[in-house]
Amino acid sequence: MILPPATLGMLGGGQLGRFFVSAAHEMGYKVWVLDPDPNSPAGLIADHHIVSAYDDYTALDELANGCAAITTEFENVPATTLDYLAKFVPVHPSASAVAVCQNRVAEKSFLADNGLPHGPFAAIRCEENLRTADESLFPAVLKVARFGYDGKGQARVANRDEALHAFHQFGGESCVLEKMLKLDSEMSVVLARDEAGNVRCFPAGENSHRHGILDVTIMPARIEPVLAARARDVAQAIAERLDYVGTLGVEFFVCGGQLVVNEMAPRPHNSGHHTIDACVTSQYEQQVKALCGLPLGEPRAHSAAVMVNLLGELWYDADDNYREPDWSVLQAVPNLRVHLYAKHHARPGRKMGHFTVIGENAEQVLATALQARAAIGIRDDGH
Ligand code: ADP
Ligand code: MG
Repeated sequence: MILPPATLGMLGGGQLGRFFVSAAHEMGYKVWVLDPDPNSPAGLIADHHIVSAYDDYTALDELANGCAAITTEFENVPATTLDYLAKFVPVHPSASAVAVCQNRVAEKSFLADNGLPHGPFAAIRCEENLRTADESLFPAVLKVARFGYDGKGQARVANRDEALHAFHQFGGESCVLEKMLKLDSEMSVVLARDEAGNVRCFPAGENSHRHGILDVTIMPARIEPVLAARARDVAQAIAERLDYVGTLGVEFFVCGGQLVVNEMAPRPHNSGHHTIDACVTSQYEQQVKALCGLPLGEPRAHSAAVMVNLLGELWYDADDNYREPDWSVLQAVPNLRVHLYAKHHARPGRKMGHFTVIGENAEQVLATALQARAAIGIRDDGH
């Protein structure tokens, strides 16, 4: 067991890393963050911030020398970086698990190879793959295999011609072509797994997106209990097949009453933010515990919760002037907690913060959260 006051290493300095730093500090650890951005949210509160690229080996040596164990909050850290660090210190999750989750072709193939539920897709490595892709896949979504997030690197395509056009627009990079599914709803399961193979799942959350970006998570998800249990089983099977150690997020589609895995995130997940406020142990504490070899905490929710993301467009008024949102509106709600990430500049679509409403009555919690969401100025302008 790695015990306080040991120093832990974090690759990536975004908000997920920032919450990890907070959780680790609470628990008595020190944290070093490596991120190229000198203003990264996690770097700002870390005990030491190494400002460097993820493939700067002098910087990686410094991190490995200073830390008892290393984790990541960013799935696009090169797998070679994780492999390199693992020569010197424990690194969780492993390079091989992250490599599967960071490439949509590898991810979809992993699901198919392991008999896990997934939607119809084709791996597109060249134009020829698109020309021969099954007609039944259209209308479809073409997604670049690597580095896509928050709906970026995706194109909705009605037919093969549109898909070819999008493929060229993406520069001919490897892609997956996914059949466009008719979604009843979207949900996610966040879990933690330790080195001994113990798994603790948080209750499933129900997610709604706006412009391809997570908008609201409702926990517990308003789905049949058997479906929620099935989602937990599938998420657990994924973690086991990946020999995963750490916190893992699994996104699901519900289509025609059936579950389909959408994608996996080898790190805490945006839809698990509510665990900070509504669960006995947060997804970030679990990440610390799994990394350090401590027994995992209880994931049980003590409250119902609704999480609302605060995106950069909130910083612009009706005339497009940049100004701080009126936080007093949210602070006036007693069972609401605001979390801001201290990002320097708000641009539309950028995740700047979130709030969580908790309470005993799930319906009331949802009504309060939606009221607060409207009051702070988030408008519903379709998806
Ligand atoms: P990201 O990495 O940006 O989260 P996702 O693959 O999760 O990418 O896609 C973002 C959102 O786009 C999903 O949550 C869902 O709302 C929608 N979407 C993605 N793929 C499909 C699909 N095959 N059918 C229908 N909707 C989809
Ligand atoms: Mg997603």
